[in-house]
Order: sequence, then structure tokens, then C-alpha cells
Amino acid sequence: MTKSLSILGSTGSIGTQALEVCCAQGFEVCGLAANSNVELLAEQIKKFKPKKACIYREDKYSELKALIDGEDCEIVCGMDGLCELATMEEADTILNSVVGMIGLKPTLCAIEAGKNVALANKETLVTGGKLVINAAKQKGIDILPIDSEHSAIFQSLQGNKRSQIKKILLTASGGPFFGKTTNELKNVTVENALNHPNWDMGAKITIDSATLMNKGLEFIEAMWLFDLKPEQIEIVVHRESVIHSGIEYCDNSVIAQLGMPDMRIPIQYALTYPDRCPCPSRELSLFDYGKLTFAKPDIDTFICLKACIEAITRGGLYPTVVNGANEQAVALFLDGKISFLDIGKLVYKSMEIIKPVNNFTFDDIIYTDKLAREFVLANC
Ligand code: MG
Repeated sequence: MTKSLSILGSTGSIGTQALEVCCAQGFEVCGLAANSNVELLAEQIKKFKPKKACIYREDKYSELKALIDGEDCEIVCGMDGLCELATMEEADTILNSVVGMIGLKPTLCAIEAGKNVALANKETLVTGGKLVINAAKQKGIDILPIDSEHSAIFQSLQGNKRSQIKKILLTASGGPFFGKTTNELKNVTVENALNHPNWDMGAKITIDSATLMNKGLEFIEAMWLFDLKPEQIEIVVHRESVIHSGIEYCDNSVIAQLGMPDMRIPIQYALTYPDRCPCPSRELSLFDYGKLTFAKPDIDTFICLKACIEAITRGGLYPTVVNGANEQAVALFLDGKISFLDIGKLVYKSMEIIKPVNNFTFDDIIYTDKLAREFVLANC
């Protein structure tokens, strides 16, 4: 069982819940990294006593230093700092829950250093899936999914053979705008889009859930994690978020994982795997729900999802382009600079800026991500 963790993205929604799990399970925390929330990071440093902490934004260094005066904790910054935390000698598992494709390099560093990776940063696999999966295979290390859908698939796989999977049922809540037409989405505000019906998450992923980009990213993530073809994934809109995804096997038997929509369950499973332990989440009462509903996604209205499926079907750097365009477009939307529907238009159109390639390097991914962001900034 995991003994010592380094948590990248410790002040976010997944990071704070992961620390709750660490407390409950008695895991040590040797590293903590945050983007800019110095107040919460300082509190966490005082409570968990990590050996090292990273504040990604260098301009926040002095503020953090002042807040943790007297603590025996080394502070590092930036991408180099994140990678230091991803390779700490004391850590046996790196939990990566940073937001966006900046998570890719630390994930690759952690694998290179032979660490197990509990992965909540889906952009890692969306942009660098091929590199990450190949590196993990070579090193013989486990990538343990934290995303609730991928955890459900991973749990449904236990005791079965991957080669006998017929398809994956990837469930989707549908977000706050399920059933709406394009016309009805014209005047969506940031506040409307941040109001998710079932999950309490950070701003970027909440917007991604409203556009269904999140499901598109998860589609790509599932393909890499479970070695699937696009036609082996069926997205099922399931408004109640009780069935967290499942697998249909070659005998048409479907095995799925159910539970309350509470991220502490998948976070804990990734950290205690293959064991199961009591969890502070609420028990699932199916009687409280009465009935569960299922529908097909509307990919013509939610074109971010359509873009992701097309991107991974084309392969190469297309997933990197749509991801980069989305990261930039969501930032602009949150800033009030573009409309909700512009996000999908820009993401879809970004696929025009590159040509198909089969082989690419880490540097190609970084360059393509930059191109995608520039495209969005030039066309918004
Ligand atoms: Mg998810």
C-alpha cells in the first residue's frame, strides 16, 4: 500500500480531497505543489509537514516563504519545481491533479523516475498519451486513474481480461445545459456555466463539463488508458451520475461501478489499489433515486465533444490542438472575452491549423499547443 505521496495540484478540488484521504489512511505526504493559492498551500504545509513544496508561480514565492516562516520545508518554483516534486526520492506515488497540459512534463518525469502515478490530469493523456503509455510500459509502472469514469472502468476491469472488452460505456452527466439547443445557449453566462448539477469542481473542468469538452477529453483519456479504438467507446448521458461507467465484455455482460458522486471514492481506490478501505463518502441509496435515466449525447450542439472524437480518430497531434485551443478559449470565456458558443467554434476550427503526422516528440506537443493558443487569440 502507498506510504508516501507527492501531490501536484494540492490546493484544487482533487488535491484537497486527496489530502483528506491521506489523513484517513495515514499516508505520508512528502511533497505538495500548487499554482498560486499561497494561503491554502501554507496551511497544508503546516499541517502535513512535507519535505518540499512547489509554488508554480514564481512571483508568489516570497509571500509563501513569509507565511511558512519557521517550517522546515524547501520551496521550489515553476516547471522545474513541479518536476522536482514529481521525482522526489521519498515519494512512491505521484498524484497529479494540476489543471491543463502543464501536467504532461511532470507525469513523464515521474514515470522516468519509476514512480507510480495516480492521474487526475486528463490533459496529460490527451496531449501525450502515446509518450506516456509507452514510457509507463517500458518502466513497468502503473498509471492509476482518478477521474471517476476511468476509475469505474478500471474497477470494472478487475478480474477480467482487457482483450475481452467489447466496448466501454462512458457515462456523462450532460452538464448544466443538457437538452438545450444551440439557439438557447447563445446567452449563457459564466455563472450559468459554472453551475454544475452533480459535481463540485474547479472552474476549468466545470466549463469543460458544460461544453462536453470534458467528455471528449475523457473519451481520449480512456482510449489511451485501456488501449481502445474510438468505435469501442459509447457515451451515455446519465443525468444522475450514479453509474460512473462500465464495460461491455465479449459475452454481452456489462460490469459497471456505482456509487455516490463523491471523488473521494475514486481517489482513495487509486491510492489503496488493489485494496479497498472504508471511505468517508455517503453510502449509495438507490431508493433515494428511484429511477436512473439514459440518453444519447447531442454532439451537433456540443461540438467540443465532436471535435475531440474527430481529433483522436485523426490521431497525431490533433488531440493536442483541440486541447490547447480549449484551454485558451475557456480562459477567454471566464474573462468575459468570448461567448459560450465561441468555445466550441474555436476548438472545432483549430483542427484546420495542422497537418497529420504519425511520429512526434514532446517538443512537437509543446509547439502545437502554442500554435493552438495563438490561433484562438488571433480568431476570437
Ligand atoms: Mg470525469
